Amino acid sequence: MIHLRGIHKYYAIGNKSKLHVLKGMDLDIHPGELVSIMGSSGSGKSTLLNILGILDDYDAGEYQLNHTLIKNLSASKAAYYRNQFIGFVFQSFNLLSFKNAMENVALPLYYQKVSRRKRNKIALEYLDRVGLRDWAEHSPNELSGGQKQRVALARALISQPKVILADEPTGALDSKTSQEVMDLLKSIHQQGITIIIVTHEAEVAHQTDRIIRLRDGLIVNEAEYSAVSTANS
Ligand code: ADP
Ligand code: MG
Repeated sequence: MIHLRGIHKYYAIGNKSKLHVLKGMDLDIHPGELVSIMGSSGSGKSTLLNILGILDDYDAGEYQLNHTLIKNLSASKAAYYRNQFIGFVFQSFNLLSFKNAMENVALPLYYQKVSRRKRNKIALEYLDRVGLRDWAEHSPNELSGGQKQRVALARALISQPKVILADEPTGALDSKTSQEVMDLLKSIHQQGITIIIVTHEAEVAHQTDRIIRLRDGLIVNEAEYSAVSTANS
């Protein structure tokens, strides 16, 4: 599903220096995997996720998504592959406050030029799947954090993505609500969708099939990591 080879990413700092964030990263994620990405703050987790989600470009290497080389794409090609394959969930939910839950979920279909009547009908079905059909008319500020994240998940699912990319999806939630969101992510995974979760929380990471650890712009290989943890313990 996802193959990264030798990915480098730099950010310009002013017009003189560059910050080397990803330093030749290799990564394979298979269809239907549920994986987590951990690493200290600033280690490049969001940068990696944004590259995987075709929200940002990289400077060297190759990224293959579903057998397509994702490299130097035009904005419209990038949007096409993003809409085709990817659903996003963010720590801060990113819902539009002036739209109700149903309209937020329907938004991707608006961009696909689906009629209002039809997209709202489909949005209600997706709200139903996340247990929020009765909340369709409520605006985000009338919803709890957990409910907002479920709306965001319904919005991510409505375009039938192959991969869900979640950047600290439980970072703003208490532990009970966090577990409810994890249970929902796991049930979505059961339906065959590949899920990649960036998290700080070990409880979240341990519920995934595999933990990918970032350090100094590279993935620490699993054997190496357990050797280090054993040595330190
Ligand atoms: P994480 O998500 O692991 O906390 P990020 O991927 O957000 O880390 O950031 C990695 C590094 O790149 C950090 O040092 C951050 O300050 C820097 N960075 C992130 N985005 C930008 C940007 N748009 N411009 C310049 N530096 C950035
Ligand atoms: Mg981040």
